Amino acid sequence: MDGLMMDVPLLVRHIAERAEQVFPERELVSRTQDGVERSTYAQVVERARRLASALTQLGIGPGDRVATFGWNSLRHFELYLAVPSMGAVLHTLNVRLFEEDLRYVVAHAEDRIVFLDASLAGAMPRFESVEREVLMPDGPGQRPGALDYEELIAGGDPAFPFPDLDECRAAAMCYTSGTTGRPKGVVYSHRSTLLHALGIALPDAMGLRERDSVMPVVPMFHANAWGMPYAAALVGARQVFPGPHMTPPAIAQLIAQERVTFTAGVPTIWQGLLQLGDDAPSLASLREIVCGGSAVPEALLRRFDERFGVPIVQAWGMTETSPLASVSRLPDDESTGDAKGDDAYALRASQGHVQPLVDFRVDEASGGELLVRGPWVARRYYRDDDHGATFTEDGWLRTGDVVELRHGSYLKLVDRTKDLVKSGGEWISSVELEGEIMSHPEVLEAAVVAVPDERWGERPCACVVREPGSSLDADDVRAFLAERVARWWLPERVEFIDEVPKTSVGKFDKKVLRRRFAAAKPAD
Ligand code: ADP
Repeated sequence: MDGLMMDVPLLVRHIAERAEQVFPERELVSRTQDGVERSTYAQVVERARRLASALTQLGIGPGDRVATFGWNSLRHFELYLAVPSMGAVLHTLNVRLFEEDLRYVVAHAEDRIVFLDASLAGAMPRFESVEREVLMPDGPGQRPGALDYEELIAGGDPAFPFPDLDECRAAAMCYTSGTTGRPKGVVYSHRSTLLHALGIALPDAMGLRERDSVMPVVPMFHANAWGMPYAAALVGARQVFPGPHMTPPAIAQLIAQERVTFTAGVPTIWQGLLQLGDDAPSLASLREIVCGGSAVPEALLRRFDERFGVPIVQAWGMTETSPLASVSRLPDDESTGDAKGDDAYALRASQGHVQPLVDFRVDEASGGELLVRGPWVARRYYRDDDHGATFTEDGWLRTGDVVELRHGSYLKLVDRTKDLVKSGGEWISSVELEGEIMSHPEVLEAAVVAVPDERWGERPCACVVREPGSSLDADDVRAFLAERVARWWLPERVEFIDEVPKTSVGKFDKKVLRRRFAAAKPAD
């Protein structure tokens, strides 16, 4: 017997249409190079219709790739709505990618047109496959030969009807940042995008509501800003886009000025807020921050609670999982005791529970690797035969992350498979060592990498960034660790560095550290 409910496709177009119909007056705010722009859902959706119509006039049709090279802004959001809703595919380019990788992904995706911010006009190379460029005026900046965004949409039809589409068609694509080789193309469908947006809005995920002012700090070129712009529009929340100003002082100032209630981004940015002086703008409007993309050190959770009284909630995910796949929240019972207790912090520093609709299993045969599947998890990469390395034959995604289960079903990510240190045949978790070192009050940041060792195969090398003015030495670090980890985990090598190198999306770039220290002689 069939169910007798309507078979309504889940389409990005619904997000635009609902916002237009239900929340027309809700405000949207965007920082530009030298000011602030304000709009509403009604205006933005009308402009998205004009844009879709103008793109159609330019010959862009269903399935064509439309690239963006921009910061988080109102115009970028208009593209988020217009491009998938007209049946084309939005390809967000990572503006911090090396030129060689950028050329690779643009050619691989066969992008036909690219929209770029004026503030980035000098940073983008010319791409062979790209037929047209459109300049988005977020401040001064010229791009010879490019069309002007505002002129383009002025010629578009404000009543352009978004077509009916199959929900399984591609809506957007995003390439992984390539910490593990060539970037790989992940292709989101309309259906996966809508289900993910609903999923992240749930109370125990981001808990987004109409009354929120949401600021997507994670870039719109990184896994769709973790889905925030779509989820916020779906629930009718106000949105505040930080534009080209991504420094900690600028972020703090915008939070205070626009009374942002919710934001999310990688740990680096929140570490940066902790470095601000006592005259830093108030973060009192924030109800919470979701943080992920790399391990959130327990010390960051504690310091944020103490200094700002704003809870940081850890989430885990990958470009391949849309990205949000797990969130760590405390159950409200005695099992974890006082929310400020050590147990509670340990749980908050875990990656938490998988999202509804996401299944997981732990593959003991590959050292505890986490496997996931679900309606917003990729089943393969675009034009890439991965020969079973990432996608198993029975339909799971190998995450490359090694987990243990805590408190029953909380995922605790102990490392990435390739970052584990294998010493004398036993594994040492680089993530755990880093977390412990970073809990030292004189340590700003720390990354642990494996270095070759004649006797043990590999040993951990701790690369430590001291707080300004600190004279911490290698023995101090070891003495501090000796009370916290097994003796054989203690790193013989502790290197003091000025900064942990970061990838294009702000994660620790251990490749660089491994290269730097693998061959070099120990410092002490
Ligand atoms: P890349 O693999 O190119 O860095 P992603 O941005 O998709 O691209 O990164 C996904 C990876 O980031 C995960 O597999 C995991 O290793 C790491 N990660 C994401 N969130 C967390 C988290 N909360 N804690 C630890 N690691 C995380």
